[in-house]
Amino acid sequence: MHHSEQLENTEARPTNFIRNIIDEDLANGTCTQVHTRFPPEPNGYLHIGHAKSICLNFGIAKDYNGLCNLRFDDTNPTKEEVEYVDSIKQDVEWLGFKWAGQPHYASDYFDALYGYAIELIKKGLAYVCELTPDEMREYRGTLTEPGKNSPYRDRSVEENLALFEKMKNGEVEEGKMSLRAKIDMASPFMVMRDPVIYRIKFATHHQTGDKWCIYPMYDFTHCISDAIERITHSICTLEFQDNRRLYDWVLDHISIERPLPHQYEFSRLNLEYTLTSKRKLLKLVEDKIVDGWNDPRMPTISGLRRRGYTPASLREFCRRIGVTKQDNVVEFKALESCIRDDLNENAPRAMAVINPLRIVIENFDGEEVLTAPNHPNREEMGTRQLPFTRELFIDKADFREEANKQYKRLVLGKEVRLRNAYVIKAERVEKDENGEITTVYCTYDPETLGKNPADGRKVKGVIHWVSAKDNVPAEFRLYDRLFTVPNPGAAENMEDVLNPESLVVKHGFVEKSLANAEPEKAYQFEREGYYCADSKDSTAEHPVFNLTVSLKESF
Ligand code: ATP
Ligand code: MG
Repeated sequence: MHHSEQLENTEARPTNFIRNIIDEDLANGTCTQVHTRFPPEPNGYLHIGHAKSICLNFGIAKDYNGLCNLRFDDTNPTKEEVEYVDSIKQDVEWLGFKWAGQPHYASDYFDALYGYAIELIKKGLAYVCELTPDEMREYRGTLTEPGKNSPYRDRSVEENLALFEKMKNGEVEEGKMSLRAKIDMASPFMVMRDPVIYRIKFATHHQTGDKWCIYPMYDFTHCISDAIERITHSICTLEFQDNRRLYDWVLDHISIERPLPHQYEFSRLNLEYTLTSKRKLLKLVEDKIVDGWNDPRMPTISGLRRRGYTPASLREFCRRIGVTKQDNVVEFKALESCIRDDLNENAPRAMAVINPLRIVIENFDGEEVLTAPNHPNREEMGTRQLPFTRELFIDKADFREEANKQYKRLVLGKEVRLRNAYVIKAERVEKDENGEITTVYCTYDPETLGKNPADGRKVKGVIHWVSAKDNVPAEFRLYDRLFTVPNPGAAENMEDVLNPESLVVKHGFVEKSLANAEPEKAYQFEREGYYCADSKDSTAEHPVFNLTVSLKESF
């Protein structure tokens, strides 16, 4: 069996309070097959927070032999786009999940929703209100004071039907009327104070075109969509806790097939140094602070993918953080350690020199082809060939004219091992007019390939290198966190908390075997970090590598 498949098959099955509820519901026959849904609004690209919801909803369907629908919550035509719909499908699939049947759209149910609105009107449970948005706010009351009934609350059923018809036919201006559920203006739950369930919007919708100029609100749409799709467990984040009253109220008062779905809430993912709001991420894109939604610094699924994160590492992250009702902030290093663990196990090794310093091996001429393992402890990953030539590049940080014993790299007059190659000794340096070292002249010990010096000399340090003759020049993009503060979402002005060094570009060399590195597939550049070829900008002529994650936790 292929190794990565094996890893996936042994992914541990999580336990959490929602799975406990499902276990009970299945045991006592409340439900026979679990059916969940993932309901993104197509107004942006999915981010790491959505990954948590995806792993929860699709993971449950997978582990319980149930189903999970993908449903676009597309009730707000002015903010939504087909580009987002496509990216969402791609991201869910990339994460390794399959939705049941075709993707669904809340807009598929606009006719049905309209019918249920009429039913509520006929039952005296909805009315057309002409309060302006400002007046409505005033009438709503506060958390400590009850609201006041709208003067339009007691219209007759006939009048409500006629006005709602006019709204639907485009005979009423935007903002002049809305349809409201008639519940309780004194309810301790604000969402129950006669919430608006339909509003007028003269906007073209990406799925329904110009068919509608009234659009149902989220709370009315979501529960009915769940019921139509026979969802059993409707899982959402904690901010919808109060809305559960409205969810149940709507379903209890319409003639829709039973059994009804139930809503359960869990705490959303907050990640240090990261924004998880599509609105704010959109601003980064619009202001061109980042290179699009999939900039490798973005916490979007597509950004993490371009950065070199694997689907398995994101699923593992979601498993490790768990699902609870406690609000918390996850440390960024928790995410990094998931990709590091995956890549340490699975990424092929290679050599790249990011800050090149030329060395010349004076007692070597010609060219030798050396063989290096692609992984130190996974023989099945094979080997590759490394051209060893008279001129090589090492990293500037790996040479000093003088150093103490802690410095286990190349020092003038001392020896070091070149990774996968020979022991060399630095003999002398050449400098330019500014005193900068341009070349280090060395000698090598031809008896040290794959073995220690015969006379028992101890050579402790090992450094990486690339042939100066037979290599591929490459661009390296060294990424760091986008923000300087742990909670950038709280900043008044995003620009003030941007990390000016979130992207540092370097030019160096990679070994020849990387000329056609597959985009998004990370390598361990030995002693440097994990890097993958950039899916947007890397070409065979001009390879570009993104830093996925450093080898070790940085502080
Ligand atoms: P945003 O604030 O980024 O727009 P949202 O909740 O409005 O987020 P939706 O597209 O409505 O985005 O979300 C789809 C699903 O993903 C919802 O069920 C939502 O609860 C869930 N979700 C969104 N953000 C997070 C998060 N940070 N953690 C966990 N689940 C999330
Ligand atoms: Mg939303």
